Amino acid sequence: MGYLLRSVVVIGGGIVGLAVARSLVSRGLSVTVLEKEDRWGAHQTGHNSNVVHAGLYYKPGSLKARMSVAGNHSMVEYAQANDVPVQVCGKLVVATSTDELPALRVLAERAEANGVPAKLITPEEAREYEPEVAAVAALRVESTGIIDFPAVCAAIVRELSAAGADLRLDTPALAIRAGLGGGVEVATGDAVIRADALVNCAGLHSDRVAQMAGLTPRARIVPFRGEYYELRPERASLVRGLIYPVPDPTLPFLGVHLTRMLDGSVHAGPNAVLALRREGYRWRDVSLADLVDTARYPGTWRLARKYAYPVGLDEVRRSLSKTRFAASLARLVPAVTADDLVRSGAGVRAQALLPDGSLVDDFLIETARDQVHVLNAPSPAATSALEIGNHIANQVLENA
Ligand SMILES: Cc1cc2nc3c(=O)[nH]c(=O)nc-3n(C[C@H](O)[C@H](O)[C@H](O)COP(=O)(O)OP(=O)(O)OC[C@H]3O[C@@H](n4cnc5c(N)ncnc54)[C@H](O)[C@@H]3O)c2cc1C
Repeated sequence: MGYLLRSVVVIGGGIVGLAVARSLVSRGLSVTVLEKEDRWGAHQTGHNSNVVHAGLYYKPGSLKARMSVAGNHSMVEYAQANDVPVQVCGKLVVATSTDELPALRVLAERAEANGVPAKLITPEEAREYEPEVAAVAALRVESTGIIDFPAVCAAIVRELSAAGADLRLDTPALAIRAGLGGGVEVATGDAVIRADALVNCAGLHSDRVAQMAGLTPRARIVPFRGEYYELRPERASLVRGLIYPVPDPTLPFLGVHLTRMLDGSVHAGPNAVLALRREGYRWRDVSLADLVDTARYPGTWRLARKYAYPVGLDEVRRSLSKTRFAASLARLVPAVTADDLVRSGAGVRAQALLPDGSLVDDFLIETARDQVHVLNAPSPAATSALEIGNHIANQVLENA
């Protein structure tokens, strides 16, 4: 930039944008946060499983592995220091057939490589944690927790307000251009915000915001909806904590699982179906523009060739049939039946897709002059948010 960096505009008021703003403010910078909705954390951050992940799944050395293991600690510490409800309850990853044992062992090795406390246990030991579980073996992970991510956002917003940050709800970034004499100008409809640097944390719209800023992002966002059911309160006692399946290593999602939330309710899900709109929380939420955009991207068709059959079709069937959803859960806890399930909410994941049809596994960050763009921040980015915030703030300063 060649001049002193004083001000930064952050686009997106989810947990990542807010954490970036917090880290920038702590370094004495003047920060504006633009959020198009009327509340903070309105999309992915407000529609997720509220699990503080331990960091066992991710490739050792990847940003996800490093930032989720560190984030597991920093997020829990932040919650404890700021009166945000959190509970480190641990979880079980359950192998339900001998076919899954090799993958469970690989997961145990990954946990060790990532420095995550986890141990392989017998079916009897698994039933001491979860009496209703069906397991041929399990991995017990101690550092997984449950939290209230929207309450984390509220705590960060309080800190930012106290530090004098300029926080704007109902303020979409509509156009971005380089400022005369350096920096950036962001048009919001009723104002133009000038700053020395820009950070794009727009989640489901991050690729479009990057394009608006003149970048050609390497990947496109594909929206994957994750739907939840809840166990009827009288059946919630079937689950004491968190029960996960052994994930399919070829897919970026963890598989439908059972999660006891802080209020004692038990959530089941999320599945993963292609959403027909970027912020499409139901099948009937359709955007022709989003569909055309997705259909015109070559990566979409290559992805479809890989996953449409049988994985994609099975996901659609499970989305439309409570009985199928219940059957997936019954593999983990055989006592669960369709009658025990009540529809709950849904979330939409912003998953980056490359032109060759591969899903971007790691967090993806691209920089340009005066700009840092977060282009893939799926799970466990909520867990890792404070770490991502520090990492991005370093990049903003290094770029200056
Ligand atoms: C179903 C589901 C379950 C998950 N479970 C977990 C979990 O248990 N643990 C975990 O760690 N992670 C989980 N995740 C992932 C986690 O929720 C996300 O990684 C995280 O919330 C990403 O935060 P974000 O700030 O990048 O995105 P978001 O929360 O989506 O925020 C982006 C914001 O940008 C705003 N925006 C977009 N465009 C503009 C614009 N032009 N101008 C202004 N504002 C704009 C949006 O309105 C939005 O509020 C889950 C995600 C989903 C969907």
